[in-house]
Amino acid sequence: MSNKTHFGFKEVETHEKTIKVEEVFYSVAPEYDFMNDVMSFGMHRLWKRILIELAGLTNNSKVLDIASGTADIPKLISKKFQSASIHVTDINPSMLMLGRDRAINENFYQNCTFALVSGEKLPYKDNAFDLITVGFGLRNFTNKRAGLKEMKRALKPGGVLLVLEFSKPNNSFFSKLYDWYSFDIIPKLGEIFVNDSKSYQYLAESIRMHPDQEELKKMILDSGFKECKFYNLINGVVAIHRAVK
Ligand code: SAM
Repeated sequence: MSNKTHFGFKEVETHEKTIKVEEVFYSVAPEYDFMNDVMSFGMHRLWKRILIELAGLTNNSKVLDIASGTADIPKLISKKFQSASIHVTDINPSMLMLGRDRAINENFYQNCTFALVSGEKLPYKDNAFDLITVGFGLRNFTNKRAGLKEMKRALKPGGVLLVLEFSKPNNSFFSKLYDWYSFDIIPKLGEIFVNDSKSYQYLAESIRMHPDQEELKKMILDSGFKECKFYNLINGVVAIHRAVK
């Protein structure tokens, strides 16, 4: 079996990818929320709200959010479903601490539990969750297939997986515009606002290397999910995959 994978456009050893992704998120953590708003013109907030609408949650739901970062998704769930139990997780301590601090400061920690967890090896029992969410996290996994299989294992039968991720624009004009924005503008914004163009170059490259809508759907179904449907947002720049165990 090959021990190689991609870190952006570069081919690297699998163990190197995990370290490099960790370095990226250590570097971007302090300004993560600010840069998300700048780069997406605030639109990521709407995409996350749409994600929650697709979840079919109730107040009794048990939820696992993987790659939580600064806890945008747990915050939305917690505000709407105050008795849902939400596991807020990330592989990176600096990102997870930002999420935890924010939950305390913005008063949504009551129904949240915080844990340092890799989405590729979940420390939870089989059939534990009603819903698993991953927002802009799967792209950074070293082994996406291992992660998806773990998510399937940890979901209850009939449980729902929601993956929000950058994807492939569905028309050529938009695709060109998006390429220009990703490779010419995003690294410059990183340079101007946070003096870090390298991390934002990785962001652009990792988006291009991520499976497109149909490929990701196939990967999800190959991991054992019964059904999978995707929703394209802003012409497929971003997609939400909704799968059922
Ligand atoms: N979900 C948040 C959002 O939508 O704003 C944060 C997304 S941020 C772009 C990606 C997060 O994925 C980072 O916090 C990073 O530490 C985390 N991450 C990367 N690889 C991971 C893995 N294998 N398991 C869990 N989290 C991971």
